Amino acid sequence: MKEAVAGELAAAYHSRLVDEVRAAGFRHQKGRLTLHLAREFGFCYGVDRAVDYAYQAVARFPGRNVFLTGEIIHNPHVNDRLRAGGIHFLSDPAERARALGPDDVVILPAFGITVQEMLRLTDLGCTLVDTTCGSVLNVWKNVVRYAQDGYTAVIHGKVKHEETRATASQALKYPNGRYIVVLDRDEAAIVCDYIRHGGDRGAFFARFGQAVSPGFDPDTDLQRIGCANQTTMLMSESLEIGEMFAAAMRDRYGADHVAEHFRAFDTICSATQERQDAVETLLDQQPVDLMIVVGGYNSSNTCNLARICAVRVRTYHIADPACLLSADRIRHRPVGAPSTAQAPEVFSENWLPQGRPVVVGLTAGASTPNNIVGQVIETLERFTAAPA
Ligand code: SF4
Repeated sequence: MKEAVAGELAAAYHSRLVDEVRAAGFRHQKGRLTLHLAREFGFCYGVDRAVDYAYQAVARFPGRNVFLTGEIIHNPHVNDRLRAGGIHFLSDPAERARALGPDDVVILPAFGITVQEMLRLTDLGCTLVDTTCGSVLNVWKNVVRYAQDGYTAVIHGKVKHEETRATASQALKYPNGRYIVVLDRDEAAIVCDYIRHGGDRGAFFARFGQAVSPGFDPDTDLQRIGCANQTTMLMSESLEIGEMFAAAMRDRYGADHVAEHFRAFDTICSATQERQDAVETLLDQQPVDLMIVVGGYNSSNTCNLARICAVRVRTYHIADPACLLSADRIRHRPVGAPSTAQAPEVFSENWLPQGRPVVVGLTAGASTPNNIVGQVIETLERFTAAPA
């Protein structure tokens, strides 16, 4: 079946231009434009597999309704193509009231679904096509182990993100399972402070009421913790947060007893890490006028790539080539807002240097297909066609 859909996938998502840039050492020169492409960018192994399985599901179950629980990945173009291919999205308003049954096929996304959703679909007798990424399953395995051993999972993630919701639900597989989600260093510091000194329960719940498991008690449930994270977070921040919690436990219980109170393991997926490392390397090695980061605005890993770049150079996070309105005007998402937050697009003028050679750095999130990356390069070529 894989072979049967390979041609369709290539036609939908392949880019000859991107292949050429890759073959030329990730450097592309045309007219005034010199473009440096990050050495790791775009579709990761988990997304590749999920999209492949979705196409295979349509081919394997002809005549049956095929559903997705929601977006398969956070890229509007990929999702729209799947809709056009006949897959129904249960998250779409018109599909929400659908009564599912044994004749229906349901595809589960790369970032997984909650334990409760899984039970519901299984009870309904649906045929499930599970594309949950192995890296996400690895996190779940560790979170379940924490729960089993009486450790509260401290998840570095976005509380509304599908993956984090699914990961948190794993902690509740055991009666004493607990979790708390921390978004960033600031939130981690508040929880660490509570571990060291205790604190105001009211203030704690005002901040974390939506981010903890039912019945959570900060006075008892923060005595033994295990760190985990949404796989697409900023790796450096996840590591730092792990260190912060280890230090809090050392202060509270003494260095000799840390192991009884604190566990951690590496849960940033290698694809996320490679894309973050590659963009740092690009910026270390190539002076660029600006960076363009391409990917869905609700894509966590894309937003984090943009954050990394913006610290070092003027950066535009765009969803697709249509955001490049002209050589003078660009539509983009402000860098810094979490991927789960509504952040309206903004317009910037004079974004592309005129009348001289221009050097652009380019990367794309793990859910961005190569054809979109290729179209961005073509648009940049057009805007820089005039000689310097
Ligand atoms: S970003 Fe990582 S965890 Fe998410 S689908 Fe890709 S490989 Fe899997």
